[in-house]
Amino acid sequence: MNASSRPLHARIHLGAIRHNYRIAKAFAPSSRALAVVKANAYGHGAIAVARALAAEADGFAVACLEEALELRDSGIRDRILLLEGVFAPDEIAQVDAAGLTMVVHCRAQLDWVLAARPERPLRCWIKVDSGMHRVGFAPEDFGAIHAELGACAHVGELGAITHFARADEPGHPFIQRQLADFDRALGGRAVMSSLSNSAAVLSLPSAHRDWTRPGIMLYGISPFAVPHPAAELRPAMTLESAIIAVRDLAPGEPLGYGGRFVCDRPTRVGVVAVGYADGYPRHAPDGTPLAVAGRPTRLIGRVSMDMITLDLTGMEDVGLGTPVQLWGDRISAAEVAQAAGTIAYELFTGIGRRVRLIHE
Ligand code: PLP
Repeated sequence: MNASSRPLHARIHLGAIRHNYRIAKAFAPSSRALAVVKANAYGHGAIAVARALAAEADGFAVACLEEALELRDSGIRDRILLLEGVFAPDEIAQVDAAGLTMVVHCRAQLDWVLAARPERPLRCWIKVDSGMHRVGFAPEDFGAIHAELGACAHVGELGAITHFARADEPGHPFIQRQLADFDRALGGRAVMSSLSNSAAVLSLPSAHRDWTRPGIMLYGISPFAVPHPAAELRPAMTLESAIIAVRDLAPGEPLGYGGRFVCDRPTRVGVVAVGYADGYPRHAPDGTPLAVAGRPTRLIGRVSMDMITLDLTGMEDVGLGTPVQLWGDRISAAEVAQAAGTIAYELFTGIGRRVRLIHE
């Protein structure tokens, strides 16, 4: 897209991501950590994030081959794990050529691996369905799958991987059930293992094992409903725009689509260049927090495709071009997400194409 003077951008603080990665390592000091950079590094720009971490990261995890090859093409030489493995048998040749590590979660993928003729031994991590019940082999089938892959001459490294459904609810009994089912699957075999997302990195040392997989915490967001008291995560994304119009409305006047907000007093309204097409959540209610030139205020009126409206009453000095922070260091993305009935993961990954990413 050509440069636009629309004042909307996301500043990505690469130093914050490095800091947050170090926190993930500090919480699981005996484990190696795969930085999860799928979905364009949760909207933060996968190439820039991976390059910023390359010197210290033990590796990266992505959702699909395309994402892995984008990193390889940009010079990333570290381990890259394909979290869902391959989606078609002919992808294995590319996994081989690019030296990727792949998850094997179903019989079809297993058969593709067995039938492949790679130049180098393949690295396969067997996905155990310990309770999420999306993908993976049942714990009781692990032994047979492990033996079958282990007997295959062109399979090199073997691992075991699972994913928690409720790690963000520390103390929930389902976490221990998943852990027990995973260990039951391994049956005492010494298999390289990976279980922990951000929530487990921060709260479940018994699940750290060989490789952790922190995602959301790298971007400065607590995986829990509240910030983690000991992990001083730094927000990595600041989404900023500016006031593009100001108007004064009389009491009783409706504002925006559907007239959801009706002024109950003389109201100064600021119009900001960001909308749901840019990733600002359409369901953000009146009262969702924002910051204008560093001062807190609130969203009023329904979110449009390209604009939002906010309350500038009492901020007489605010004019055209005044910066507005949608989320970042002053306004937590988690708070905006909660107000809109979603999660920061969705806000970040929903950042639209019109938002310029400025890496700094
Ligand atoms: N591992 C797997 C398999 C995932 O799907 C994800 C994210 O969805 C992660 C790790 C990282 O999770 P989080 O962002 O909660 O740390």
